[in-house]
Amino acid sequence: MADLVAGGAGFIGSHLCQRLIDEGRTVICVDNFLTGRRANVKHLLSSPRFELLDMDLIEGVPDIDVERIYHLASPASPPGYARLPIDTMRVNSEGTRHLLELAVKTGSRFLYASTSEVYGDPLEHPQRESYRGNVSSTGPRSMYDEAKRFGEAMTIVYCHSHSVDVRIARIFNTYGPQSDPNDGRLVPNFVVQALTGRPITVYGDGKQTRSLCFVSDLVDGLVRLMQSEAAAGEVVNLGNPAERTVLEYAEIIRWSAGSNSEIVFGAYAVGDDPQRRCPDVTKARDLLGWEPVVSLQHGLLQTIEYFRSEIALQECAV
Ligand code: NAD
Ligand code: UDP
Repeated sequence: MADLVAGGAGFIGSHLCQRLIDEGRTVICVDNFLTGRRANVKHLLSSPRFELLDMDLIEGVPDIDVERIYHLASPASPPGYARLPIDTMRVNSEGTRHLLELAVKTGSRFLYASTSEVYGDPLEHPQRESYRGNVSSTGPRSMYDEAKRFGEAMTIVYCHSHSVDVRIARIFNTYGPQSDPNDGRLVPNFVVQALTGRPITVYGDGKQTRSLCFVSDLVDGLVRLMQSEAAAGEVVNLGNPAERTVLEYAEIIRWSAGSNSEIVFGAYAVGDDPQRRCPDVTKARDLLGWEPVVSLQHGLLQTIEYFRSEIALQECAV
């Protein structure tokens, strides 16, 4: 029986599809390429255990027999969801309901990819799963934060009312190869800017913090969360607790890319930028035996190599 990966042509989803295929699973990837890219799954198309369905989850899902459903479909970068507010709200509400209904019909296990953004601009630090957050329901990030909070609520309601075997991952900032060089997030922006000698654009004073998790660690957490019997009905933070300021990331990336780019300070791209963010991963450690193992230096080198080849490909195309 198959695993359904909704949003499987996106950054994290494409790594998840690869990991599942490597483990001998059959994967059905559902994606409408709203923010994902065909290139992310092109190498999987030759596998007899990989199927790609180009469809919009908001419209519904076909009756397919699957054993596990990973719901990762959603715009995820702040400029992306600010540009696509209705799509973001609909895929996390209507899209989530369609996948949960499929889980009811097929008896499948369901994993919802939520986010550290449900904590908003947190007042508790580091963030534990019990923290209820500091979120504006009408602010510039509300289309994402509130959509994910609704998606979590819907997931838990189906667990209680329809006995669906669910689990929720609160994913913290993740980076790595196959992320979109143009999606506006910290790592793609800084790496592309460093590699092309353009100024590295730090928003605000750069003192705000983030904790970056390499994608292979994150995917390992998702797979463990899906496999764990003890995780039924649970909400689990997945992220790397090594917290640094945005300015530190700018300096580390510039150095790692061997770049002389100037670091410049400018206005925030999207308002209500959380000022501190760091996961407490005690629950993931205790429940799943999981913790991140890839160092920032190692992860960044792989990511820089990926963007270097992407830039070379784009230069060849012009
Ligand atoms: P991404 O944009 O690269 O991938 C999302 C995928 O979902 C894309 O391929 C997109 O085309 C697809 N999609 C969107 N709407 C759809 C629809 N209506 N029907 C079908 N497919 C649709 O984003 P990502 O960084 O890989 O994030 C994946 C998931 O993880 C998202 O749900 C995101 O909210 C969550 N998340 C990511 C991060 C991160 O740092 N990358 C952090 C927290 C949470
Ligand atoms: N950021 C920045 N310059 C950029 C892109 C992002 O200073 O070119 C900052 C952004 O303001 C935030 C942090 O980096 O404080 C992480 O931003 P990202 O968009 O990656 O994700 P977020 O954590 O906001 O969802």
